Parts: sequence; C-alpha cells; structure tokens
Amino acid sequence: MSTEGKKVVGHYIGGQSVMGISGREGGVYNPATNELIRNVALADAAEVDKAVSNAAEAFHDWAEMPSARRVQVLYRYRELLIQNIDEMARLLSSEHGKTVDDAKGSITRGLEVVEFACGIPQLLKGEFSESVASGVDSWSMRQPLGVVAGITPFNFPAMVPMWMFPVAIACGNTFVLKPSERNPSCAAFMANLLTEAGLPDGVLNVVNGDKEAVDSLLSHPSVQAVSFVGSTAVGEYVYQTGCAHGKRVQALCGAKNHMVVMPDADMGQVVDAVMGAAYGSAGERCMAISVVVAVGEDTADRMMEQLVPRIETLKVGAYDQAGVEMGPVITPDARDRIKNYIDRGVKEGADLVVDGRNISIPGYESGCFVGATVFDRVKPEMAIYRDEIFGPVLSVVRAESYEAALKLVNDHEYGNGTAIFTRDGDAARDFGHRAQIGMVGVNVPIPVPLAFHSFGGWKRSLFGDHFMHGPEGVRFYTRMKTLTSRWPSGIKEGAVFNFKAGGEH
Ligand code: NAD
Repeated sequence: MSTEGKKVVGHYIGGQSVMGISGREGGVYNPATNELIRNVALADAAEVDKAVSNAAEAFHDWAEMPSARRVQVLYRYRELLIQNIDEMARLLSSEHGKTVDDAKGSITRGLEVVEFACGIPQLLKGEFSESVASGVDSWSMRQPLGVVAGITPFNFPAMVPMWMFPVAIACGNTFVLKPSERNPSCAAFMANLLTEAGLPDGVLNVVNGDKEAVDSLLSHPSVQAVSFVGSTAVGEYVYQTGCAHGKRVQALCGAKNHMVVMPDADMGQVVDAVMGAAYGSAGERCMAISVVVAVGEDTADRMMEQLVPRIETLKVGAYDQAGVEMGPVITPDARDRIKNYIDRGVKEGADLVVDGRNISIPGYESGCFVGATVFDRVKPEMAIYRDEIFGPVLSVVRAESYEAALKLVNDHEYGNGTAIFTRDGDAARDFGHRAQIGMVGVNVPIPVPLAFHSFGGWKRSLFGDHFMHGPEGVRFYTRMKTLTSRWPSGIKEGAVFNFKAGGEH
C-alpha cells in the first residue's frame, strides 16, 4: 500500500499505480538528513491527458450515482484512514520533516473534511418554489462540473488535498490531483485507500509532476475547474492561465499573518500562542504567525522578556527524535533563502534577538535546519516584514496604538489570517469587524475554520471567488441549474410574447 521503500513514485490512473513514461524524474529527500529517499515521476502532457481521460470516462456513472451512495465510499475511506493514520503520518514526516504528532494532527484536520463530505447530500438539496405562476413551479438544483483538478503545496501533503477531493467527488465530480513533487507519497497512499474503500476506477487520479503537468492541466479542454493551493506568484499564474482557458479557478496563496497583542492581554497565553503559531511546523504554514504587533513599548518589553527564553530553548531536530518540537525546513534552497532573509533583516537594521542561522543538530549535520529566530523593532518597509519568508523567523513590530496596529494588518498585501490578543471585548469586536482579512482569531492565534465552515483569505492570499471546503467548497464544485415547469392543468393561456413582472409567465 505505502510507497515507503519504493524507488520511484509513479502516478495513479484508472484505479491503479502506473509508472511514469516521460523519462523525467525528480528527487524526494528526507529534509532532516538531506538524503535522497526515492524519486518521483514527472508527468508530461500525454500522461496528464491519460489521467484526465480516465476521469472524464468515469464522470457519467459517478455523477449519476445517488449522492447518498457516493458518500458511502467516503465513510469507508474515513475508517481506513483512521486505521492507517500512524503509517501515513510517518510517511508524511519522512518526506516533509515535521514531527509525527504534527503530521497526525494535519491528517486529522483532513479527516474532518472527509466527515463533512459524508454529509454532502444535505447541502446538495435544491430550493423549490411552488406556484411561481398559475400551475408553474420553479426548482433550483446544484450539479457537478465534470473533471476537476487539484494542485497542492508541499507543506500539507495530506490535509490540503483533503480540503479538495472529498468535497469534489462527494458532489459527483471526478478528480485529478497534482501533489507537490517534494512529497508525493501521501497522495499515492490516499489514492490506494480510496480504491480499497470502493471508489470506482478513474474517479480519483494522481499525476505527479512540476510546471509541465500543471500547464497541461490548465490548458486541457476536459478540465472544468482547478483548485490550487501554493505560493502567490504561482497561484496568480494558475488563476490567470486557468481563467484564460475558460475554467473556474480558486487559488489560495501566500500569507503574512499578524498577531496584535494589546496591553491588557494575558501574557502567558500570548507567549504559548506565539511559540506554537510562529514555530510549529518550522513556520511552514500559510496560517503561521510571522508578525507580532505589540501595542505599546511596555507590552513589547513584557512579551519579549517571557518569549526569548522560550525561543532559545525550543527543541529542534529530526521528526523521529524524542522530544523534538520543531523539524527542518523542506529543502537546502528553502534553508538558504530563509537565512538570506535573516541576513537582510540585520542589514536593514532590525534587532536580531535570537539568531537561528548557525544551528547544527548532532547526527543531522547535512539537514535543512534553521533555528527559531526572532527580530525586534522591525519596520514595515523591511523585506522581512513585507515578504512571506515561510520559515521559523518571527518579526516583532512595536506599534504606538491599536489604530496603528490595525492599519499595519490592513495595509499588508496579504490577507489570510490574523489574531488579536486582549481581554477587552470592545477592541476584540472592533478588530473582528474592521480587519481586512479572511480568517480572524480573538485569543486564537491560528483561526483555521473547521471543515463545515470555509477556509480562505482576502487580498493577494486568494485569487477567485470561493473559499475551500464547507458550503463554499460545495458551491465551487457544483453549478446551479434552475428548472421551471408547468404540467397540463386544463388552464389554457394561449401564447405569451411579452415578459411580465411579478412571476407571471
Ligand atoms: P508552490 O507555489 O511552489 O507550489 C505549489 C504547487 O504548484 C506545486 O504542486 C508545484 O508543483 C506547482 N508549481 C510550482 N511552481 C510552478 C510553476 N512555475 N508553474 C506551475 N506550477 C508550479 O508552493 P509550495 O512551496 O509548495 O508551498 C508553499 C506556499 O503555499 C506558501 O506560499 C504558502 O503560504 C502557500 N500555502 C497557502 C495556503 C492557503 O490556504 N492560503 C495553504 C498552504 C500553503
């Protein structure tokens, strides 16, 4: 079942694993050691076409199957995922680097979307208006789109695909998943479990690959819609290219999430929250807190006094070492990019309080480690403030007032998540109302909506109109049809040539 031990991860097309035939492969590395674990096939246009064709062939029967029967497969998939969660979490950690507990937590968040999707027949119910005119009824329904594609990032190789395919297939679509080429094994693992759960062949296909596979999906005439999660530069390209080819596209992208700390906040709670939200998963989360805005010098001083010793003693290491709180980042390139940002922060005059550049983990000297880092007195014009670093680097900005803090949140180009820590209900309410951000927390640092709500950002954190999963996910993966019907009733109106107001036909 698992790809553990496999030399090359191929594709999953038409209900079975198939080897790549493009002749191109990429390497999959253990970020803790930087050792090659296996290779991954990189699909060309012909292989993408094969996956899309399989999905297109499977669409009719799958869409015609009653939704209550479709979700039976997801109930069984859920059980299988629970039975196999330890193995999948270990596999995820070995290719991603995050701790096994963290990996398990992320799979559980994905499982919650599967559970939501099991109840989708409820959300596919249409609306009905009786007698919109004499003897005329009107009925709206939601129907699946056809073949839809998902393109996913490295940082959540199980959860992010599960934001997409359970909802898409429960709605009656068939799916082609293009996971990150950095850690392809979870997608293969999940595809196998779905087949074991009874999913008909071709309903979910996986093609591995890079830009070539993505471009082939974006231009393929049979792909009706594309869900993307990844960086802003690529997401904007995917959105524009997909739309130019007439597809419905949602692209969830990069972030720079601010946490505002008010003078009355519970500082113990603040410090715990910052540690988890800034350094969990080595900061490689789109909802990571990468900026803390402390309101007032005294607030900042009190916070730093408690925060700095915690950062200095954070336990960094490999995913399978006991007691490790933070793993490596994904690749040597990512490590070097993050260290370069730290160099820039120093050059630009920020106050480097804890420096993670020179960390070395005994036994893992070649690993992609960056230690937990914090800058104080960061200014909005600095690159470390403006850019998404996507690593364990926290910026602390000192704001003189609540209004100045809110302005920073709202002026930033990204709008994924934000949080305020306070005991003041007025400030919390005002913040929730005025923050120009898609997901807002009050004393909750990572306000990720549960599966039955929808996940998404504003501004340059999202291109397109729909958030993922929850009711927005159902809207994205279906289209509305409205049917107006009259049955012979003995009422004879004769031909009607003019358009009448008030529901008269
Ligand atoms: P990425 O943009 O490099 O890759 C995402 C996907 O796009 C991958 O499948 C990759 O193969 C493909 N891709 C990469 N370059 C491409 C190109 N030039 N043309 C076409 N396709 C290309 O992102 P990543 O590094 O894997 O993930 C990290 C990013 O994802 C961060 O910016 C993070 O904020 C973002 N992210 C956002 C959310 C969200 O919900 N907003 C969630 C998770 C991650």
